[in-house]
Order: sequence, then C-alpha cells, then structure tokens
Amino acid sequence: MANTCIVCGRAAGSGEHVFPAALGGRRTNKNIYCTTHDNGYSSLVADLANQVDAFNAMLGVVPDHSNEVKSVRAHDAHSGEELKLSVNESSFTAPRVLFQKPIAHGVQMEMSFPSRQAMNQWLAEQKANGLDVTPLQKAQEHTYYLGEVHHRLRFGGPCGLGAVAYVTQTFLAQAFPDLARSGDLAQFIAYTQAIAKLAQINGGCSEMKNGPPDPRLEPARQAYEASLASLGGQAPVWWDFDPQPDATPNAFEFGHRVVVGVDAVDGQIFGRFSLFSSIHFGMRFGAASASVVTKTVTVDIDPMAAHPPNDIKKIESATAIARVAVPAQPNASLAAAISTKSQERVFSELLRKIEAHSLGKAAAKVHAELAGYSALSEVEAEDLLARVIDGQAQRVLNVAKYVLENFKPHLPAALLLTLGPMIDAMTIHDPNSANGLSTKATETLDLAKGALASQMREDIKVGRLDERRIAELLGEGPGAAVIGQAVLAPMVKMLVPMQI
Ligand SMILES: [Zn+2]
Repeated sequence: MANTCIVCGRAAGSGEHVFPAALGGRRTNKNIYCTTHDNGYSSLVADLANQVDAFNAMLGVVPDHSNEVKSVRAHDAHSGEELKLSVNESSFTAPRVLFQKPIAHGVQMEMSFPSRQAMNQWLAEQKANGLDVTPLQKAQEHTYYLGEVHHRLRFGGPCGLGAVAYVTQTFLAQAFPDLARSGDLAQFIAYTQAIAKLAQINGGCSEMKNGPPDPRLEPARQAYEASLASLGGQAPVWWDFDPQPDATPNAFEFGHRVVVGVDAVDGQIFGRFSLFSSIHFGMRFGAASASVVTKTVTVDIDPMAAHPPNDIKKIESATAIARVAVPAQPNASLAAAISTKSQERVFSELLRKIEAHSLGKAAAKVHAELAGYSALSEVEAEDLLARVIDGQAQRVLNVAKYVLENFKPHLPAALLLTLGPMIDAMTIHDPNSANGLSTKATETLDLAKGALASQMREDIKVGRLDERRIAELLGEGPGAAVIGQAVLAPMVKMLVPMQI
C-alpha cells in the first residue's frame, strides 16, 4: 500500500525531495507521489522558493543539485542597475558605462564590468558586431560600495500557504503512510492539488505577465474556491503568530521544522511548519476515521548542511503536544498580526539574526586571516592588517554611515541646518565613479579604516583581539565608537570654536 501515489493511488516512484531542494532539502522519497503528481506540485514549490530566496542568499544556502549558493537579483539605489547578491558576492549583472564622450571617429567610454570574464565577453561581442574597440588603459579592479539595495520581499499569499501545506503533507505521508492513503486526507489533498494547478498558470500566483489572460485561469480559480468550500470555506493552513507549544529548540541555528501527528482523543491529524525557526504556520489535515495511536513526528532540517547525514534531526513522541486549534477565521489572525506589526517583527527579527550570523562569520574570517600577524615584520604586519580591513570595507562603510546618521539628530536645530548637508556629503554615493563613492565618501571610508586598523593593532598588542572583539569592532557599539571618533573629528574641531 505504501508504494502508491497518495493523490491518485497509482504506482509511486517519482523520487521527489521530501523537503524542497531549493530550500536546502537533501532527502528524497520514492514512495509518495507518481511522476505526474510530483511534477504537478513543482510550480507551487518554486513560488515558495522565490519567496524565501533573499533569506537563502543571505545565509548562503546551496540548493540541492547545485554547486552555487543561492543568489537574488536586486537593484542598487544609486546607479539604478541590477545586482546579483548572495552571501559570497554582490556584483552588477551587466556592464555599466561610467562616462562617455564623442571623439574623432568614435566614442571614448569609461566602463565597469562585473568581472574580467564579462569584460572579455563584451569586447568579443563588439568585435563580432564589426565595432573596433581599443582599450586605452589596463583594466583595474575596484570594489563597488553599495548604499541601499532594493529587493522586493513578497511572502505568503494563497500560493505560499499552499506550498507550506504541500510540503507538510509530504512529511505526513512519509511518517504516516497508511493514514495518508486512508481517504481521511482527501479534502486536504484536493486543496493542495487545486492550489498547485493555479500556481502553474500565469497570473495564478504571481502577478499576470504580459499577454492575454490564460483561458485556464478562471476555471482553476473556481476549482480552488470549490476545494475551499468543501473545507468550510477557508484554507486548512494558516499563519501562526502564537508561541509554539513545543518548546524544544530547533536542532540547527536557522533550521526549518516540520511537525506532523495525530491525536487519538478526537482523531485530529495536525501539522506545523516553521521556516528558519522564525516564520510559523499551522494546519489541520482532517480527522482519522479509524482508531489511531497518538503520535507526533518532528523533523528539523538544516538548510545550510551540504549533505546527509547531519542535515536533519527527527524526533518521535507519543504525545499530541503540537496539535492545533483551528482559528475561527484564519485571515483574521494575519490581519491582526499585520495591524499589531507582529508580522513585521517576525521578519525584522529573522533579518537581525541573519545579520548577527554573518557578522560572526566575517569576524571568524578576519581572525583566521590575522593569525600570522605577530610573526611578521612591522611593515608586513601593517600591510596584512590593511588588506584584511579592506576585505571588510563595506561593513566599515556601513558602520560609518550608521554613526553619522545617528549623530545628526543630536545636533541643535541651528547647527543641523549647516552641518546636516556636510554630514550627508561625508558618505554620499557617486554611481559614476568606479567604486561607487564620492571623493568625500572615499575619504571618510579611509579615515574609518585607519581608525579601525590602529584599534586592532592596540588590541593585538594587549592580546584581546579575539573573534568576539573583532565582531564588536566590525559591526557593534565598540566599532561605532572607534569609527565615530575618527570620522567626526573634523566636525568636532569645527564645533568647538563655534560653541565658544
Ligand atoms: Zn498520482
């Protein structure tokens, strides 16, 4: 019985990922869906994967069957150009023209390319088009400093919830193979099928792309509504903003969790789903018609584990602690969460955790890079320190900007009028420069890097530059104090005579 598709009852064997590969799932199971029904869910999963791409990119999650960490497309606020962002890199996706002027028989251009490879490709393309391009000077490598980056985060919606329901349904089928084929899940499966069909159609989940509306769209919408009607008019899955009943912390730092179970008391078949230990959902699959034994299966999934066996942790228990209370109106809890800002808090808290994690990783890297510092000559050691800090220059710039932004409101109104624009100018971006910064901002960055270097040199001398201290200097209060003192010094010098 366990070898049949839970949707149609025909032979299973598609070998789908139990937890989606795009989200870092590494395990497959051939006993749950036939190929048709496995493929049928792929658009739905793709929709959820798109929604969490930004988090995966920030954490460096490598999708299964891929060698590259997840990246997302975003826009640089200053140049307006498209960027590819991941934990490993941020680069423009296309060449940028920094400057151009007509000259005799042609145009002189100053250009910036995402990489040497991209430059060579562009040169070859021009040649193929019959254009004669002569490099006037050797290419130089520059770091381009980012200001605000815009990436639209879209999360939830009927398809996001549908994907959550589908993934949890797959886990239920794995942990309770007989229950999944008992017919007690029929309405729930009909719902995930209906939303999956909608996800396959242009405009079904995402905004409609150009072109005439797909004639399949309206019937698919009606079928989806009909699947909800048989469930009492509402989706069997909902956002959960309440504290989680199972207080066992996730086995992994940014682990996902899927909980499935059944309660013998009333036959409730329940499920819970948490993304990155932060975003929680609840669902009710149905009620068992035959007698059942109470059991809960909890699986924690580490999206950052490269491969089995340490990518998941499974716990079985004979209680129904994670059973769910179906909200009277699932959308009401989401509406309340939005109006009380608790949904926003969920995301900002997750982003804060990711930022702390990446600061920790940067600190570990710097610590390792500086390991040989003490054995070097004074000149070599200085050189190494400067290079290592250069590697963290975007962070240093961010701290300088943060300090200056927070300094402004402390100024008396009269001074703010004159000093405000000066402070803004200290970190102003210039998309037409090779490094993306104005001359003034480059000076500010140099001041900040210099201040950090002298502080680190002092810290090494007294033996206190451990990973924690490096993290403090690169992105926390102590670093802000050191950098603030350096970048505000010229301003303070001006202020003192003014106040006398
Ligand atoms: Zn099937």
